[in-house]
Parts: sequence; structure tokens; C-alpha cells
Amino acid sequence: MFKEFTQQLSALLEKEQRCVILPHKNPDGDALGSTLALYHFLNKKGHECSLISPNEYPSFLAWLPGEENIICFSKEEEKSIALIEAATVIFTLDFNALGRIAPMDEYIKASTATKVMIDHHEAPQDYAALMYSNPALGSTCEMVYNVLHTWDKSILDQNMATCLYTGIMTDSGSFRFPSTTATTHKIVAHLLELGVNHAQVHQNIYDSYRFERLQLLGITLNNLKRIDNLNAVYTTLSQEELDRCDFRKGDTEGFVNYGLSLDGIKLAVILIENKQEGIIKMSFRSKGDFDVNQFAREHFNGGGHINAAGGASHVSLENTRIKLEQAIRENSSTLA
Ligand code: 5GP
Ligand code: MN
Repeated sequence: MFKEFTQQLSALLEKEQRCVILPHKNPDGDALGSTLALYHFLNKKGHECSLISPNEYPSFLAWLPGEENIICFSKEEEKSIALIEAATVIFTLDFNALGRIAPMDEYIKASTATKVMIDHHEAPQDYAALMYSNPALGSTCEMVYNVLHTWDKSILDQNMATCLYTGIMTDSGSFRFPSTTATTHKIVAHLLELGVNHAQVHQNIYDSYRFERLQLLGITLNNLKRIDNLNAVYTTLSQEELDRCDFRKGDTEGFVNYGLSLDGIKLAVILIENKQEGIIKMSFRSKGDFDVNQFAREHFNGGGHINAAGGASHVSLENTRIKLEQAIRENSSTLA
């Protein structure tokens, strides 16, 4: 599948194309790293490229090489729509269901451009003519590396490498999740040879907290609850608590993981109230057999990976909390 995909893709791009590259909504390090790396590569190949994010991204990613060229659909809708309508090739990276880019999805569905998917989530939708989907791989950046390296490794450079390194690092929990392989490390070694300043990348992402963000983490940890007799914890953040800490996009990134640092805990969940969107955004993390992709799909209209998934609830924070506790108890066979 990979070889065929790369051959078809490089053949498609032998002719000059107008490309639009899309990450998912609320893009993370992997989504922005993979789309920016592809953006740099296609630019170097002489294609006209636009990178359109459905909405804004957190400040800890606002240093990635080329990020100043990203167009936000939520801020520049007309310009984005015009670019989508003019596109001949549309890349969708780090997501596999068009709902993840709503409300942009309707313009992508209407477009006659050739759609290309590169993604590592479970259960891909069938919208792309060219598809490279592999849930066994730890990051979309690793997949983009595979594609670009096979296509033309001679033009890989420090900027592309820095973008790819960022996504591999963030999606692998700094190279510690089980999906991190010997191949991942070989790729990372090559990226370092291309000039990535890995200590600086780590500092930009993880040592850039504002004081209020650390206070918000304090509240999150204080709100942590263990479910009786089960190896599961969850925590909540109300809109009032977020407001008190001057919440900004991306501030809660990684907070859910703290639950899994408790000895024996196999499932950790965070519930974050968003009054503006009228939802409770949820993140699920697990260790071992508990399949949070399945759990998020079944109960909270979400999805993701076996050990990391997200979803949303449309009832109050308190009712979401009750529903979550019930759902965990009903699916607790691997959590005792
Ligand atoms: P996070 O909890 O960090 O937002 O997301 C964890 C994983 O689940 C990521 O791979 C993300 O792309 C995916 N994910 C997050 N929210 C959703 C959602 O609402 N629907 C689906 N299908 N996947 C999600
Ligand atoms: Mn990813």
C-alpha cells in the first residue's frame, strides 16, 4: 500500500498542481508538523501550496518553521474557500474523517480536487482517492517522512526535519509510547543529521508555560477523582475555572496524561467545559488493553487510537461526569 501510494502521489505531482493542505481542528504538534513539512517539500518541488487550519493553534506551536504562512479558516473564511475551490489536489493529514474539520468539510466534499489522506487513526472514512492509512504508526509525521524520503530524499532540509521531529516527539510522548519503534529512532537520527535542534524544540513545546497555565494544572490535579475499586481516574475543568486562569488555546494539552502517572492506573479522562461551543470536550488515555478509541466512539461521539482518543458531550459537566462514571463501570472488565 505504501509503495503504491508514493508512486501514485509522485506521478500526480509530476505536473504542477495547486495544493491545499489541511490539518484537523485544534491542530496539535503532529498535525501542524506533518502539514508544514509537506508544505515546505511541495513548495520546493515548485507547486503552489496553501496550508489551511480549521481554527487557531496554541502559542507553543507558533514557532514552527513556516507557521506564519498558515491560514486560519475561522479567521479568513472567504480566502480559504477561494483557495479550496481553486485547488487541484487536497491533502488531509492527521485525521481520517471529514467531521474533524467542520465546518470546512462541506467545501472539501464539494471540491473536485484529487483528495489525498495520510493518517494513523483507526477506521478511515472513504473520501480520498489516494490513501496512506496505518494505525500501527505512532505519528503522521513518521508517515510523511516515509513518503518524502521515498519520493525525493535529496531535498529534505532542516525546516522539514524540525517540523517532522516535533510531531514525532509530541505524538510519542517524547519517544515513550509503545508505538515508538527502532524505525522511529532511525528516522529521528536522520532528522537530527538534517540539523534539528532537539533541545530547543523540546523547550519550545514543554517549557513555555505561562504562570496561569501552571495554576490551571494545579486545579486539574486537585479535581482528580478515582473511581471506586477500579484503576480509572478522571478530572474536570469548568468554564469558571478556565476563566479564572485566563485560559488560552492549548493550555490543557497534556493534562490528561498526569492521571496515568499514578501507579496501576489504566484509564485517565479529562472533561473540559466549553460554554461557547456548548460542549464538554473529553480526552481519554489508557495503558494496555482498554481501548479508548472504541469507548469514545461508543459513548462520546469521538475516536482516535487504542490508547489515546477524544470525544465530546452535549450535556452539562455534571451530567457528563455521571454518564462517564456509568460507562466506565459498564466497561470495567479490564480495569479491575
Ligand atoms: P486529544 O485527546 O489529545 O484531543 O486527542 C487524542 C487523539 O484522539 C488524537 O489522535 C485526536 O486526533 C483524536 N481525537 C480527539 N478528539 C476527537 C474527536 O472528537 N473525534 C475523533 N474521531 N478523534 C478525536
Ligand atoms: Mn497524530
